[in-house]
Amino acid sequence: MFSLLVKNSSSPYSFLSCGFPVFVMFDTVHFLKSIRNNWLNQRDSDRTFKFPHFDSTSNDLLMAKFSDIENLYKKELDQLLKLAPRLTHKSVYPSSLERQNVSLVCNIFNETTLAGLEAEYGEISGTVHFVEIILRWWNIINVKNCTKGIHKQNELCLPFTSASDDRLEFLDKFLAWLERWRALDTTSCLTTDTHQALYQSTSVISEVVEYSFSGVGVQYLLTGKLQTDNLESRFSRYRQSSGGNYNVSVAQVFESEKKLHIMSVLGVKSAKYGPVKFSPEIMNDISISDVMSTDVDVNPFVSVLNYIGNETVDVHQSVLLYVCGYAAHKTTQLLSCTTCSDFVLGTHTTDKYFDNLVRSGLTVPSDIVVELGTFLYTVMQLLISEEYETKFLTCQNQKQLLLNLVGQGVKSHVSLQIFVTDSCLCGRPLTDIYKKLVSIMCNILLNNYTKLQNDHLICSKKEGVNRKLKTLHYF
Ligand SMILES: [Zn+2]
Repeated sequence: MFSLLVKNSSSPYSFLSCGFPVFVMFDTVHFLKSIRNNWLNQRDSDRTFKFPHFDSTSNDLLMAKFSDIENLYKKELDQLLKLAPRLTHKSVYPSSLERQNVSLVCNIFNETTLAGLEAEYGEISGTVHFVEIILRWWNIINVKNCTKGIHKQNELCLPFTSASDDRLEFLDKFLAWLERWRALDTTSCLTTDTHQALYQSTSVISEVVEYSFSGVGVQYLLTGKLQTDNLESRFSRYRQSSGGNYNVSVAQVFESEKKLHIMSVLGVKSAKYGPVKFSPEIMNDISISDVMSTDVDVNPFVSVLNYIGNETVDVHQSVLLYVCGYAAHKTTQLLSCTTCSDFVLGTHTTDKYFDNLVRSGLTVPSDIVVELGTFLYTVMQLLISEEYETKFLTCQNQKQLLLNLVGQGVKSHVSLQIFVTDSCLCGRPLTDIYKKLVSIMCNILLNNYTKLQNDHLICSKKEGVNRKLKTLHYF
């Protein structure tokens, strides 16, 4: 693939027929790991890299010894305050599996580690010199957002905004340095593969920067986006949703995409916590509890019902169908009469996306079930809107409140009234079916809402606020 795209190895890109250049490079995160691994793999007892000076053209060789890092780590092992706090056992002695972990590499090539090494061995140390070069290079090519440079107060981490950036000069020097290193007659260096790939990709990055500002006129460029991280994380989700299978098939990729899509969309939005995320997986954990009529004071919330009809709530149709279909499916499992079942089951939907999922065994809800779902959904959305959310959270039994409120609304609802007034031919009142449906749907909505709250609590705990989690009382 690589040789197909790069016809001539001296040019960092090739032109395809569309006229746009195609830049071909390797994943930069991988290099950082490779450099560290190459270093660890040096044969001598100190694990030494012999490399030329970065700035001068003098022929003196510098020595970067990994043992320097090791010794610094050992020296500070028992100290409470450390010069190089990021040096952990895992970072200094990574197992073969831990060698895959980028954050451990970042502990080695790190500002604090660099400062620690400098304090310990002095500026002239080859190890300091080496870590500094690699760290500088990494900072430049790993800018993932616009504010990192400001937060870290490091101008190397700012996004590129023009082709006349000093950092490009550094990258050029870095390339020249790699060339000089390669020309050396030593075995204490990077492997040929790492060397070549590092050279090629670094030169491509500077080409991309120059092209972006001269060729296409972009506003800014984030070099950290030229990595395969996002792609890799997507694939890991494919693997996870395909039963932890490493080699996923094309069919599984399509299936996973559908699942991931459905997870990413649910219209319910809390005023306090933001959008409520929805995941089909959690539906398996939800048990059907019988609706018990306990006393809950709905009066403070009755005004919610007045809003319905006036307030438009954005409901994602596919997700709603998914939730309603699930509720219908669970309900029919408890029904023996086919007429009852027919009442909750539909045959097809107009939603293309959902119909695709139906082929893999999902239940289609009937129109009346979807209508009930929409109604419930709207009530829930209003309860967690800015006006009611605080009151809603202080309520003793949220599920009961939601059920009672919906029950009250249904009584005066034009098409949903049927649930209260009619019975099936077998004699079963439709209220029976209604109660089951509503209970399941309530659980799904409240469960997602609780998850959202918990996520926020974990976040605020990290910020030092130590509050005890209170779960919603809805079971
Ligand atoms: Zn029946």
